[in-house]
Amino acid sequence: MIITNKLNLPSPFVSFAQRDYVYEPNEYRVTSLLKGIRETILERRHHKEIERDVSDMVWLLFGTAVHGILEKHQELGHELKEERIKVPIGDYILSGQFDLYNDETKIVTDYKTASVWKIIFGDFEDWRRQILIYCLMLRKIGFDAQGGQIVAFLKDHSKRDAKIKSDYPQFPVQVVKFNFTDDDFKECEEWLQARFEEIAAAEKLPDDELPICTPDERFNSGDKFAVMKKGRKTALRVLDSMEEAEQWKAENGGDEIVIRPGEDKKCLDYCAACEFCSYYKEKVVPNSERK
Ligand code: SF4
Repeated sequence: MIITNKLNLPSPFVSFAQRDYVYEPNEYRVTSLLKGIRETILERRHHKEIERDVSDMVWLLFGTAVHGILEKHQELGHELKEERIKVPIGDYILSGQFDLYNDETKIVTDYKTASVWKIIFGDFEDWRRQILIYCLMLRKIGFDAQGGQIVAFLKDHSKRDAKIKSDYPQFPVQVVKFNFTDDDFKECEEWLQARFEEIAAAEKLPDDELPICTPDERFNSGDKFAVMKKGRKTALRVLDSMEEAEQWKAENGGDEIVIRPGEDKKCLDYCAACEFCSYYKEKVVPNSERK
């Protein structure tokens, strides 16, 4: 990875950013499996050409600092801390590192930095999947992991909003818990096998033919449907589905319905591999320039 320092931040920031990740052939991290296959493969293929500025990595630094402080805690006899475990899945090695496992409660704990919006929207499927995979990996090496929790540090928490909004997280740290059944572990095993089959097929494809990340993987905000009137630039009303827009137009008037494509927030702001992605160049950049 090529590291730049546009703000001329002090050298410790730069040395942190320069710690490079070494990709092992046929080995994938749990966190890589949770991204779109296209993003994962492009990141690996173009790792040495991808450019990132130190200022863009401050939340990564923050997350690492939190881990650094908490890992100084001396684990108890029945706890495993910051362990990297590797298990074979078909022809591949799956590598994962959780923050804490308690062999008495059978619970995996992982620390994360997050936005308050994650808690407000309550969409924890990615966290659930990650903890479920860690539990499955632990079971494969002889532990009886049964559930887990994410301890989330909310970097944009506002005490003021917590006082005046009833649906706002009341504390800057939140614990989200998960329990798993035998069916969950069976589904997860199948999911992992299917994911590695997709990876094996994708590794043989050139960049532009890789399967495009799904709308969820692109954090797509969803298409909107604008009811327009001739001679007027702004919409009469913007709705979430074509059916709702047609019904509104039938009841209230308007000349046509214009589809406004949803924004791919991941592609725009968070994908390190975007410069090597044909979807980003052909669909995301032209759409964002139009707005
Ligand atoms: S730019 Fe978007 S579609 Fe392309 S790899 Fe990144 S997340 Fe996937």
